[in-house]
Amino acid sequence: MTNGFLSEEKVSEIRDRSSILEVVSDYVNLKKAGKNYKGLCPFHSEKTPSFMVNEEKQIFHCFGCGAGGDVFTFLMKVGNFSFPQAVEELAKRYGVRLPPRELSPAKKKEMDKREILSQINQMASEYFHDLLSRRREGEEGRRYLSQRGMSEEIIKEHRLGYSLERWDGLAHHLQEKKVSLELARELGLIFPKKREGRYDSTSSWYDAFRGRILFPIFDLHQRVVGFGGRLIKEGEPKYLNSPESSLYHKGEILYGLQVAKGYIPGKDCVIIVEGYFDLLTLHQFGLKHSVATLGTALTAQHVHILKRYTKNLITVFDADVAGVQASLRALPLFLEEEVSGKTIILPKDEDPDEFLRKGNLEEFEKRAINAVSLIDFFFERLMKTHDTKSIDGKVKVAEEGMALIDKIPNKIRKNFYTKTLAERLDLPESLLMERLRSSSKDRSKGEEDFKKRPVEGSFPKSEEMVVRLMIHHPELIPTITEEGILREFESPVLQKMAENLEGLYQQRRRLDLTEALGCFEEDLKERLCEFAFQESDLEAGDREKILKDCIEKIRKKRLKRDEGEILKRIKEAEKQKGGKGLEALLMERQEMTRKGRPL
Ligand SMILES: [Zn+2]
Repeated sequence: MTNGFLSEEKVSEIRDRSSILEVVSDYVNLKKAGKNYKGLCPFHSEKTPSFMVNEEKQIFHCFGCGAGGDVFTFLMKVGNFSFPQAVEELAKRYGVRLPPRELSPAKKKEMDKREILSQINQMASEYFHDLLSRRREGEEGRRYLSQRGMSEEIIKEHRLGYSLERWDGLAHHLQEKKVSLELARELGLIFPKKREGRYDSTSSWYDAFRGRILFPIFDLHQRVVGFGGRLIKEGEPKYLNSPESSLYHKGEILYGLQVAKGYIPGKDCVIIVEGYFDLLTLHQFGLKHSVATLGTALTAQHVHILKRYTKNLITVFDADVAGVQASLRALPLFLEEEVSGKTIILPKDEDPDEFLRKGNLEEFEKRAINAVSLIDFFFERLMKTHDTKSIDGKVKVAEEGMALIDKIPNKIRKNFYTKTLAERLDLPESLLMERLRSSSKDRSKGEEDFKKRPVEGSFPKSEEMVVRLMIHHPELIPTITEEGILREFESPVLQKMAENLEGLYQQRRRLDLTEALGCFEEDLKERLCEFAFQESDLEAGDREKILKDCIEKIRKKRLKRDEGEILKRIKEAEKQKGGKGLEALLMERQEMTRKGRPL
């Protein structure tokens, strides 16, 4: 599994120094549960936690979807890293020095395109930030930001930048750095100049962002995936954003989350705003558990990502019609994902940025504490938009209300809101309940499917037990070797796993689970973790007895299988002319029966 610049020693040094708990905590809100930590799985959608981390063993396992492995596996899966990338990432984090990765020209070509794109974004970000924070030419940008009340800390923390008004600042810089300008174009950073109505990619290029404050947009791994740019003078468009690219998907990225993720679990809530400056001002005023959606409504992916950190989501909108509607659009998402959705309502025509800068921090915090539950807010609006004194009005409210309530997966909550709605409309509850029952009949089936993954053919019990014993009590491995029982396994998967474990134990005279994981293929890795999480607390004497029982059972089963096989062959031999080989088979069978008899 190791290659070139990643020696086995380095990999195990990194593994020893890293803490899987810390790494996973960046993505999952973990709570202690006995010996393990528990949280919502980042790899499948779930409502009750079945994702476990064991700190002592440095492994994770999800009992819902079966994902499992060590700290490297986790990063590779969650961040789409290759193995070398995951190693580098952890080396950086835990201060392990790696020898530089040598890149031959051929290797360079091979290098993941995403990685190059990511590097170009990084270079551009550094260029813009340098202009803003250090260069004389950046003065205008600095002035603009200070007028908008941005502190140096915020500029630094969010790596804000500035682009000159000239046409080829970045293009020139990237050219000097010998970067592929075609790729920079793909990222929307530069454009080729049009000549006589035709693009001529061999000649000159011009910058996409000019005379703007730059907001680099990060993913959770501190990689720049795109930019937003705000004109500092009058003009159009006021805001310019990177186009979608293989790195940047608007619907999956939340601006500011790379900072906010450190604060959300502590506050157990997240504030969601819409724009760059709203977000930065909130952070500036110490409300660092805030994120922003960028020029897009909140998506299911957004909610899904945030749910890893908290279940309490608070949107902020001003009291005008568009604001209210935007807030309400998020409601079905919140209900479906079973998170609590609240909203902070600001005075009409106020956005969080202005509101806070007018000295309303305390007022804002008060409004946050008293944030209105979105579903109550929704009912409120609904009652206002229709005349609930008339029958027609009542019917409309009931229909719209029940359409929303239908989306709530939790039955108790569903009933609760149905009751509330019935009370508000002064209708018999049974009427609405009836409607609920008829519409949810066909949906409950889908939910069941999604709960449990199909068990991929269960294993023979005794064989599984032997493997579990090997994992939890490796001191039994020599006995297992002596008995040679692994050869008699029926399940090839368990056999392979057990033989791997045996081999490792023989090499080292001990069994290091994380080390074992490093040598296993993906499917075996997941199984191994699953077994490792099902602790056995057997007494020493019992363990040996159980092992003995298992061995006996495995042997018996093996004999039975062999016997069946021989009988089949005997039958075939009898059919043939002269009963070729029959005698030998009969003897074999006799021997077998003798062995199979209890002693
Ligand atoms: Zn899972």
